[in-house]
Amino acid sequence: MAPPVSIDLLVRAEFVYPVDAAMRVIPDGEIAIKDGAILYCGPQMPAGHWQAGRTLGGSGYAALPGFVNCHSHTASVIFRSQTDDHVAKTALLDVAFRLEKDISEDEWGLCAMLGTAEMIRAGMTTINDIWYAPERLATLVEKTGLRAQLAYKVFDVKLEHLRDGDYTHYTAIGDRRLADGIAFAQQWNGRGDGRITTRIGTHATDTCSQALLQIARAEASRLGLGLHIHCAQSSAEVDEIRARHGCGPVTYLDRIGYLGDDAVLAHLVFASDDEFDLVAKANAPYAHASTIYPRRGRYPDLAKILQRGIRTGLATDWMLNDPFEAMRYALNGARMVAGSPQALSCDDALYLQTMGAACVLGLDDKIGSLEIGKRADLILVDITAPHVQPYYGSSAALVYYARASDVKTSIVDGRIIMEERIIPTLPSDLGVDAIRAITPRWRGQLQNYGSRAVAGPGCLCG
Ligand SMILES: [Zn+2]
Repeated sequence: MAPPVSIDLLVRAEFVYPVDAAMRVIPDGEIAIKDGAILYCGPQMPAGHWQAGRTLGGSGYAALPGFVNCHSHTASVIFRSQTDDHVAKTALLDVAFRLEKDISEDEWGLCAMLGTAEMIRAGMTTINDIWYAPERLATLVEKTGLRAQLAYKVFDVKLEHLRDGDYTHYTAIGDRRLADGIAFAQQWNGRGDGRITTRIGTHATDTCSQALLQIARAEASRLGLGLHIHCAQSSAEVDEIRARHGCGPVTYLDRIGYLGDDAVLAHLVFASDDEFDLVAKANAPYAHASTIYPRRGRYPDLAKILQRGIRTGLATDWMLNDPFEAMRYALNGARMVAGSPQALSCDDALYLQTMGAACVLGLDDKIGSLEIGKRADLILVDITAPHVQPYYGSSAALVYYARASDVKTSIVDGRIIMEERIIPTLPSDLGVDAIRAITPRWRGQLQNYGSRAVAGPGCLCG
């Protein structure tokens, strides 16, 4: 008999979902991990085949690739319940854009910790984030073991003036933010043993001038960094771009030479069929934030987008960072828009939240599926809870019935970053106490901006 194969970690599961080309489901499967990479993924080998440093999982668990969130704002948790109704004017422009300028780096750090804990506990193993104070999130990513692409939010308008229709572009603001964004990107690219990569985070087509977008594109290409932008997100953005340039936001990005296979486009809610064609032609990757669109009353035609072969992944955008909800919203949204239950399948949704999103980030050769040679980014989901039983094994059991709280263990690069829902690198309260202590200050500011915050203990507003 051959000697046992020495490995670092053996993960066993009642059902393994590798999200490979055949979308197999492997009953009684296992994943062997060595030096952070997948050495084997398949049916359980005979006893004595492996000599594992540690063995996890087993009966009662599903194993699948860690979820990839291809467009996020981890620290945006601050706006929960404040921008969900009346989204366009009163919530986003009056409340969110005005509050953002009042938040200190330390406060963004508290929000980033809360969001990071939420991401990990929901089974996200990779995020693609654009926000303020990205160093705070980068530090948490480095410490917790998460994988991330990170960008600083670059724009050249005064966001707090947009509520008055004031789109004045300030060259000095754009120059400074772009310089800061490039400095951050260069400082952090490759950190965390290569788990952290960076992008230039041009905020949106309307909040950056044409000159800023073109300089950012040139710098990203020169430095070999990707780009990240909100595109065709709102009717206000579309109106502004049409008034300025006489075309829609995607057409505009194409005309000015911004589009490319390294520029992640978030949303495309208001893009036309012709613009979907432009995205496909440029091989531009698309982040689909399924939980956000229904609350704004308009859902992009995901089936049409996928039919064009556009590289597409699911994303949470902001506030609600739950990949199970994202998959369910995508299924329901796509089926309602198409008027057909065939518009998207549970296998499609699982693919979009894992491999599809990895393709969007250009990481599909490293993560997104459980295949030999890839980095070992995977999660174990408890399948014994009443809300998922009886468990028959098809992907629908996970996609339609499992919950973020069922994710028990998370592994990135072969390292266990959460076990039995404990994240050993974060404080045991996951930063909640600090958030609760500062909530009265934020509540006061929110009320000053006309938000729906309810007066509570310690409210500073008046
Ligand atoms: Zn966003």
